[in-house]
Amino acid sequence: MIMALLRVCRRRLPLWALVMTVVAVAVPAVAARAQGGAAGCAVTYTTNEWTGGFTAQIHVTNLGAALNSWRLEWTYGGDQQVTSAWNAQVAQSGSAVTAANVAYNAVLGAGASADFGLQGTWRTADPAPAAFALNGTPCGGTATPTPPTPPTDPAPAGCAGATICSDFEDQTGTEPSGAWQTTAPDCQGAGKVSVDPSVAYSGTRSLRVDGGAGYCNHVFAASTRDLSSVGPVVYVRMRVRHTTALPTNHVTFVSMPDASQGGKALRVGGQNGALQWNRESDDATLPEQSPAGVALSTPLPTGRWLCLRFQIDTTAQSMRTWIDDGEVAGLHVDGVPTQNVDGQWLARTTPPRPTGLRLGWESYGTGDDTLWFDDVALGSSPIGC
Ligand code: CA
Repeated sequence: MIMALLRVCRRRLPLWALVMTVVAVAVPAVAARAQGGAAGCAVTYTTNEWTGGFTAQIHVTNLGAALNSWRLEWTYGGDQQVTSAWNAQVAQSGSAVTAANVAYNAVLGAGASADFGLQGTWRTADPAPAAFALNGTPCGGTATPTPPTPPTDPAPAGCAGATICSDFEDQTGTEPSGAWQTTAPDCQGAGKVSVDPSVAYSGTRSLRVDGGAGYCNHVFAASTRDLSSVGPVVYVRMRVRHTTALPTNHVTFVSMPDASQGGKALRVGGQNGALQWNRESDDATLPEQSPAGVALSTPLPTGRWLCLRFQIDTTAQSMRTWIDDGEVAGLHVDGVPTQNVDGQWLARTTPPRPTGLRLGWESYGTGDDTLWFDDVALGSSPIGC
C-alpha cells in the first residue's frame, strides 16, 4: 500500500520530494493503527480518485483475538457515496459506512488480514476516513498518515533492457518509422497515426493517434518487436493522454496479436464509458458489461497524461490492470470466475500469448478520439510508473 502511495508521485523527483508530496497531499492512503497495547486493528485505505468518482482498496488487519465474522465501520468526512463493493458487503447510512465480511473471508484470525474494495461517487470532497473500528473496537482513534518508508519492492520506472522501451524521441519524421510501423488491420480509412513533436510526457515527442469513428478507420502504430518469448508474465507500462471520454460503443486503443487466439487480438479499450479488456476471438469482455461490472471499472480520464499499466500471465488466466497505480478491480482476472468481473473471460481456459503490441484506435461504430502515447515499455519484469 505504501508502495502504491509512493508510486503515485511523478517520476524523476528525488525521494525527499516524493515524501514531501505524500505528506502535503495526505491522500490517497492513510493508515489507522491501534494505539498503545490495546488490541484492535490496523487499516490501510488506498484510493484511486477521478472527478466525481473513486475506488478504494481497504486492507484490514486484526490485531486482536480471532474473529469468526467481522465488521469494519468508518465515517466519511466528505460527501462520498458508496455505489458498489467487492469482497465485502458494504452498507452506507448518511456518512456512516459498514463493511461486513462475505462468506469466504469471514474468519479473520489473530494477526490475519482481509482485503476488500469499493467504488463510489463524490461531488465536493473525497478525504480518506479518519478512523475505523473493527467489530466495534477502534483501530486507533485519529488516523495518522502512513510514515513514508523506502520502497522495498520498487518497480523501476525506467525500462532500459526491456523488450520495448520507447519514448519516441528517436522518431524524427512525421510518420512512425524504425521500431514503430503504421498498420491498419482489416481496413483503412480516416484514422491516422503520427509523431507529434509538440505534445509529450517525456522529452518533446509522442505518438499521436487521430482515431475516427466507423469500422473502417482502424489504424495503429505497431512495434516491430516480436514478443513471443517475453514472459512468463508480460508487463506493460505506458503513458496515455486523450481528449474524448470513452464512448458507449466498443473501442480499442491497445491491440495485441495473441497466438492463443490464432493471431486475433487481445485488446484494451472501452465500452459503456469505462475501460475494458476484450478478446477478439470470442468477444469476451472484462469486466462483464453488466451495470455492476462496468461500475467495477473506471473511465479513462481525459486531458492529462495518465499511467496505464497491466500484466498478462501467459501460463495461467491471470491479468491485472492499473491506472495511475490504482488497481482497477473490474480489470482483474484471478482465475476464479467472479460474477460481473471475469466470469465471461474465464469461459476460455487457455491463457493469452501476446506476440506484438499495437497502439492506435479501432472503433466498431460510433466513437472517435485523439490520443497520445509516450514512454511505452514492455518486458518480463515489472515496470513502474
Ligand atoms: Ca517522448
